[in-house]
Parts: sequence; structure tokens; C-alpha cells
Amino acid sequence: FAPVLLHFLYSAATPYTTLPSVLLLGPSGAGKTALLTLFERGPSSPSPAQTHTSQVTSSVELAVAQETSYTTDLDATGATAKKFLLVDTPGHPKLRAANALSYLSSAEPTIKSPLASDHGAKSKLKALVFVVDAAALADGDALPQTAEYLYEVLLTLQKRFHGRKGSRAPASMPVLIAANKLDLFTALPAALVKSNLEAELGRIRAARSNGLLDSGVGQDDLNANDEVEGWLGGDGSEKFSFAQMMEFDVEVDVIGGNVVGDGPGAEKWWKWIGERV
Ligand code: GDP
Repeated sequence: FAPVLLHFLYSAATPYTTLPSVLLLGPSGAGKTALLTLFERGPSSPSPAQTHTSQVTSSVELAVAQETSYTTDLDATGATAKKFLLVDTPGHPKLRAANALSYLSSAEPTIKSPLASDHGAKSKLKALVFVVDAAALADGDALPQTAEYLYEVLLTLQKRFHGRKGSRAPASMPVLIAANKLDLFTALPAALVKSNLEAELGRIRAARSNGLLDSGVGQDDLNANDEVEGWLGGDGSEKFSFAQMMEFDVEVDVIGGNVVGDGPGAEKWWKWIGERV
């Protein structure tokens, strides 16, 4: 009887958890849905290459093993695979941003499993993939709009650090910026995507802190928290760089690739994800 009771108490106290997840973010049109579909099916392969047992509209259950391609049939190779959920954030862009950000503000981010079979169980968030359109970033409004969204995402991750309770650091949250559409000759290479985004995030940061000062709040009225509120990255740094996010346990990598057409493909993204789930 005692073991049964113990088991009962244990399961009552431990919320049921499901597979870990990786969240896809980014402006609409960047290629999130295309990427999800590619990883699910493999490149134009007639039969699904990935082992996946269930699927809902915008998320898939995938399995990744060390040193294998997303096109590898893991069942056939018998490799030890790690399973995870790749979750898109569908809906209106504004809503999508709000939804996604609400997941990220907790010290140990979880999302409600989108798999019906999980009955809303919590899935631990392991990494973010922020997809950008490297061709669109070459001109026009795409750069400021993309950077604005990325700023919110990174700032939310940074704030988790200040909001933590006790001495326990929040879970580290790696972010992959997937510079997509490198098959297009107009696309910026990953290094330029990185430096352009860093420069634009720096501009947003400066504009926000000026805005705070212009709003009539004197420098003396600003307490440490206000400064922490909107300032992304390291204090006192003139230029913003992704490396500054390491201070908050947020590792940012920018890797180029493409979902359709000829180019570097999606293998590096797959490997990056596989190392973090
Ligand atoms: P989402 O809004 O982020 O989910 O973007 P979608 O996945 O719907 O993609 C938007 C458009 O970009 C679609 O027409 C895709 O076919 C196209 N697209 C996605 N990835 C690539 C790519 O690597 N290269 C090119 N040339 N087009 C792409």
C-alpha cells in the first residue's frame, strides 16, 4: 500500500511534462512555415524522412540525433534520437508577438504543448529560432521592423534575469537568428545580416533611452530599474553587439541558410537545434 500511496503523492505533486520544445519566431513572410514543413518532410521527399508521430497545424514532433541530417530516417539507422517539438507561433503578427513574448518572460520558460495527446501539458522551452528574410533586409522597412521585434524578444529574455527570485539563475536561452532565403542573389550574407541587425538594435536602444529623457523624466529621476527596463545589452557600451547578451545567459548565433532553392540549405540550423534540445 505504501508504495502505491507514494506513487500517487509523487504524481500529484509533479506536473506532467512533455517533450522539450523549440519556438519559431520572426516577422511574417520570413519562412517559418516553410522551415517547419522542410524539417517535417525533408526536401521534396515523397515519404516523410522524419519520425514524427503526431502533428497539429503549426507544430511538429521531430527527432534529432548527433551528426545526422534532418533527411536521415532515424528509425532505419537505429541512432539514439532526442525528440522535441518545433512550434510555430501562428496568428496575427501583433498577437503572435504578444503570445510568444508571454512565454519568454518566465525564469524557466514553458509553453503549453500544442499536441492534443499531451492535454495541455507543459513543455520546457530549450531554444528560440528567430527567422529573418535576408533578402528583404537588404532594403526598405524590413530591417527596422525585424529589429523592433527582435529587440522585444531579447529584452524580454534579458528582463527574466532581473526578475529572478533568489540566487538561482534563470535557464539559459539560446537564440538562433536564421538568415533565410540565401538562395536569392539579393540576400545579404549572414555576417551582414548580423552587423545590420546589431546596428539597428543599437539605434532602437539609443532612441528609446532618448525618448525616456525627452519625456520630461530627468536623469536624476531615473532609478536603476528604469535604466534596466528598456536598455538592451551591456551598460555603458556605445555599440550594441549580440555578444553583450551573454551577460544574461542569452547566446545569439546568426547562421545563413535557405529552405527553397540552391544555397547552403538548412543543415546548419538543424545541427544548431540538435545541440540544444
Ligand atoms: P512565415 O510567414 O514566416 O511562416 O513564412 P512562410 O513560410 O509562409 O514563407 C513566406 C514565403 O517565403 C513563401 O512564399 C515561401 O515559399 C518563401 N520562402 C521561404 N523560405 C524561402 C527560401 O529559403 N528562399 C526563397 N526564395 N523563398 C523562401
